[in-house]
Amino acid sequence: MSNGPPAFIPVNTPVFEGNERRYLNECIDTWWISSEGPFVRRFEEEFARSMGRRFGISVSNGTDALYLAVRALGIGKGDEVIMPAFTIISCAQAVIEAGALPVLVDSDPVTWNMRPDQVADRITSRTKAIMVVHIYGLPVDMDPILELVDKHGLLLLEDNAECIGQSYRNRVCGSFGHISTFSFYANKHVTTGEGGMVLTDDPELDKVCRSLRNLCFEDPRFRHRSLGWNMRLTNLQAAVGLAQVERLEITVQKKREMGRRYTAGLRGLDAITLPLESTDYAENVYWVYGIVLGDETGMEAPAFMKRLRERGIDSRPFFWPMHEQPVFREMGLFIHDSHPVAERLARRGFYPPSGLGLKEEEQNRVIVELYRILDG
Ligand SMILES: *Cc1c(COP(=O)(O)O)cnc(C)c1O
Repeated sequence: MSNGPPAFIPVNTPVFEGNERRYLNECIDTWWISSEGPFVRRFEEEFARSMGRRFGISVSNGTDALYLAVRALGIGKGDEVIMPAFTIISCAQAVIEAGALPVLVDSDPVTWNMRPDQVADRITSRTKAIMVVHIYGLPVDMDPILELVDKHGLLLLEDNAECIGQSYRNRVCGSFGHISTFSFYANKHVTTGEGGMVLTDDPELDKVCRSLRNLCFEDPRFRHRSLGWNMRLTNLQAAVGLAQVERLEITVQKKREMGRRYTAGLRGLDAITLPLESTDYAENVYWVYGIVLGDETGMEAPAFMKRLRERGIDSRPFFWPMHEQPVFREMGLFIHDSHPVAERLARRGFYPPSGLGLKEEEQNRVIVELYRILDG
């Protein structure tokens, strides 16, 4: 029994409780380690099937998946893409690098997701696509978005990195739109360490994505008519990914339990806002367990996170909104944008340890320390 300080609780630890080891050994025993190995196809097919999609194209990470999706949809110069201000930079970056313009909308103060009414307000003759990004485990309200897509003949790109295994009114998240994208980073519900996927039902988009992912190789080899990227996933990564998809239902169940335990433990703290447990269209899968500090705490996220760290608990801040990114301001983008909800979330929001490997006793300690800081 040690008398030292209690162990540091990391913000995320993945778990490997399925066939990961067996499949990885199979790669090594068969010498298949590159993207040519059989697990890549198996993973793509199994993942696409689990999301109710026809085609899956695996890539190196979720950012690449967005680059690939934007290019494959033919989004480019003069096009506008409506997306949330409150998201990861990859979403806006993929659009900007394609030569198109992101048009930002604010978050709903309760679900933290992009607001469909603001999406409707920002449609112009230049709007080519809507990029939906489900945030932190709760989906965007899709019905009004689907209506807008239909009515205006727009393309729909769904970034489902944070809602793997989630549904919207009995429809699987990741099955919406012309293309959906995924990340398999270590903290996502399905992980390959680094990795990503693009899903579609359109055979033409499947063909274009496969070509762009692999340097647009064609016959005869090494003579190219267009430029792509090397975004290939390795057989080793796909082996882990396949084992992870096989357990997705259990993962989602565990995440929901984690979320419910936090909510039960923290409900008594009036100074913080907890994530919404459910809406009329979905039950939260808590990709992360986001917490927003109320004004009465007199603290913004960085100060609060420092206090947590001093007590041996790791955490991460919320996204910083796209219109407040120095790099985009420098480019002259979003100068007149104001998205007060996203701005507030960015300053007041953080998430405590909420990975799959978080043990019950660790979670209890997080809850106790949150009480000590806020109530003590
Ligand atoms: C994680 C994430 C990404 C980026 O994925 P990487 O694999 O880290 O490149 C993109 N979009 C969203 C919404 C994410 O949460």
